[in-house]
Amino acid sequence: MKIKTIKSKFMRGSFDQNTYVLIKGKEAIIIDAGAEIEDVKNALQGAKVLAILITHLHFDHIWNIEKYLKEFDADIFIVSGHQNYFDDSKLNASFMIRKDMHFNVSEKRLKNYAKKLNIGSFNIDVFFTPGHSADSVCLLIENDLFSGDTVFDDGIGRTDLFDSSNEDMKNSLKLIKTINFDFAYPGHFNSTDRAKILKTISYYID
Ligand SMILES: [Zn+2]
Repeated sequence: MKIKTIKSKFMRGSFDQNTYVLIKGKEAIIIDAGAEIEDVKNALQGAKVLAILITHLHFDHIWNIEKYLKEFDADIFIVSGHQNYFDDSKLNASFMIRKDMHFNVSEKRLKNYAKKLNIGSFNIDVFFTPGHSADSVCLLIENDLFSGDTVFDDGIGRTDLFDSSNEDMKNSLKLIKTINFDFAYPGHFNSTDRAKILKTISYYID
């Protein structure tokens, strides 16, 4: 599996959001939708997009979702019961940048995460990790963990938003400690390895 990290360019790249393109042969999946569509298309090198997996529905992770949906004939996976985030600036957190952002996404394109997903040749374990947001997930694909805004190389996601929960965050960090992975690919900043993630988690929980 090839993993390509594409940095978002909106707000002059200040969010440093990572969109990931995963490719196996002629098949691809995309994790999050912050990067420019042209950059995603270049990274695909002709591979067919089978699905778009969203780590959580904050504006910076879905900034270009409407363009992706136009370009790719693929479903989007989100956590059940959270589709209202597309249309609510408190829940998609766009209020933070003084915007009232609405994302026009047809219900027909939405799929709910299950604990395991098999999409083409991609086998995905889905871990529900609320805390930063109520709809946060971490995705384990082969030995790689896509950790969204739950845990970064050098810190954890903020828990002072409308649907955040400190208590949930602690439980989610405990859950991540039990996952076997080699490398982590967070929603922002650098990718890293399991040892660094465990060290980061140890600052926040025992
Ligand atoms: Zn977020």
